[in-house]
Amino acid sequence: NLNLKGKAALVTGASRGIGAAIAKALAAAGADVAITYSSSPDKAAAVVKELGGKAIAIRADSADAKAVQEAVTQTARAFGRFDILVNNAGIVTYEDTLENIDKVLAVNTRAPYVAALAAAEVMKQGGRIITIGSCLGENVRQAGITLYSMSKAAMTGMTRGLARDLGPRGITVNVVQPGPIDTDMNPADSEYAASQVANTALGRYGHTREIADTVVFLASEAASYITGAQIAVDGGTNA
Ligand code: NDP
Repeated sequence: NLNLKGKAALVTGASRGIGAAIAKALAAAGADVAITYSSSPDKAAAVVKELGGKAIAIRADSADAKAVQEAVTQTARAFGRFDILVNNAGIVTYEDTLENIDKVLAVNTRAPYVAALAAAEVMKQGGRIITIGSCLGENVRQAGITLYSMSKAAMTGMTRGLARDLGPRGITVNVVQPGPIDTDMNPADSEYAASQVANTALGRYGHTREIADTVVFLASEAASYITGAQIAVDGGTNA
């Protein structure tokens, strides 16, 4: 019962990295998938081509709350239904200017909530809201990443609250907390890689596919009794 045939999904920030892997895995499980992107139209188009079927790409900067709401509406209109929201788009900055604080909170924290509220309006029984948080939303093992960690820790409160709000309607809400995953955001060959690997129990970076498989499971009927949960997919980073 990992089959998602007939379901409609929206994955934010899916032109590259973890989001692209999630979009492909959901499509492989049978879902119709819409993706958003902000600055990579060519990469988004390439992902859509790989997804096949009814897949669409929507330009929607997650920093723009209205664009996020419209992406949900557009997905529901394109597929005639809306079953699965995956809040994946995220950014990291290392300089605490006011501008960066606003941007990171807008993209990593406000957008998932705005999208979840919009999705809840169009979802029916069996709906799924899955947010990609971070192991840093739970434990912070390094200096210099407070803003990002703060933005991701909020996803736990959001997930627990929404699980209560939407549980009566049969909609589940969960947050996945990845450890180090090899992407443009966190390349496995960067100078910051070794310390992250040292924090894991498995002694390695994770693959985007390992996050995507967890999302497919949470989106499926197999996970029907899981809600309000934070699922670590971090190689044991927070063990
Ligand atoms: P990447 O930077 O590799 O990819 C980010 C994706 O999000 C791209 O598709 C990008 O689109 C999109 N995106 C970025 N900003 C916006 C925006 N303002 N509006 C819409 N889309 C946007 O990141 P990852 O794949 O590594 O990360 C995905 C998620 O996983 C993020 O939430 C991240 O915080 C989280 N995460 C990642 C970890 C890691 O180690 N990689 C660990 C823990 C959590 P475009 O191409 O158009 O810019």
